[in-house]
Amino acid sequence: MGEFELIARYFKRPPGPRSQVGPNGQDTSDGRAVALGIGDDCALLAPAEGMQLAVTTDMLVEGRHFLSTVAPARLAHKALAVNLSDLAACGAEPLAFTLALALPRPDESFLAPFAAGLFALAEAQGVELIGGDTTAGPLNICITAFGQVPRGQALLRSGACAGDDLWVSGTLGDARLALEVFRGELALAAADFEQVREAMERPQPRVTLGRALRGLATAAIDLSDGLVGDLGHVLAASNVGAVIDADALPRSTVLARQAPALQRQCVLAGGDDYELLFTAPAAQRTAIEAAARLVGVPVTRFGHIDAAAGLHIVDAAGRALEASWRGFDHFAT
Ligand code: ADP
Ligand code: MG
Repeated sequence: MGEFELIARYFKRPPGPRSQVGPNGQDTSDGRAVALGIGDDCALLAPAEGMQLAVTTDMLVEGRHFLSTVAPARLAHKALAVNLSDLAACGAEPLAFTLALALPRPDESFLAPFAAGLFALAEAQGVELIGGDTTAGPLNICITAFGQVPRGQALLRSGACAGDDLWVSGTLGDARLALEVFRGELALAAADFEQVREAMERPQPRVTLGRALRGLATAAIDLSDGLVGDLGHVLAASNVGAVIDADALPRSTVLARQAPALQRQCVLAGGDDYELLFTAPAAQRTAIEAAARLVGVPVTRFGHIDAAAGLHIVDAAGRALEASWRGFDHFAT
């Protein structure tokens, strides 16, 4: 199978009914953002009037970001999910994405489930694959996602203010717990392992929550490298500090049954959570809880922003905890 046959067979889908280009190339997309998809030298995107384009890229490298044992459908899901999570963190509405794929062989048993996993999430989120690049090489998946957000309303890392509450969506630490099992550091019952493995391999991007937080949250980030490290980015960008209660961080029942030290490690510095961390004035508490209920994503308050720089981690009794938790850094020595 050649490159073009591969693209046509696995990645080119008929455009949705509202995404058509007329016989003379005119945009008949009827307000839809994708004016032209796969097949030409460029795709054409037309964000709606008054919208800014939000663009993000994430690359997944075998052995670095995923284990060679992961099912292809889950790999594709995750490659797209981590990009949609970035759009979510900005409060953007996802529109489209490109896929740059290096793979050792044009292998049907990989490509068919990979494409199925990719389009399952793409369709669920209403995003269209509009282009990409395909080459032979060590397995490497790079997705760029495009979204739109009303001008000036994107949620940024830099907006946190002293006195704001700190919030986080969902639960934290399961992906890290799964990694500990894969590394042979820990054993879990089969059903428990399946649950945390699902969190690691099939994260659910918090797209509807991110959009619902526009106008409520002052700052937001998605958690990919561990809460403490990612919160550090918000604090640095906003030029503030924070006090957080490690025991208030939400965790699954599976994680809650583990040793206390492991629980803290997983929720504070686990990584691969793909939940949203955000800040908001205390006056917005009711509105945030209502918005979260509406989109069906639980949110938890776990601390507050301070004017003075620095991150103080305490337990439920207010005792200071070791503050040396770091986020993941690919080039850290
Ligand atoms: P070019 O040589 O102009 O870069 P290519 O031959 O690489 O174009 O790709 C042909 C078309 O197929 C382009 O529209 C490109 O965006 C699309 N494409 C290539 N690889 C992929 C892929 N993995 N997924 C989706 N679209 C792809
Ligand atoms: Mg190309």
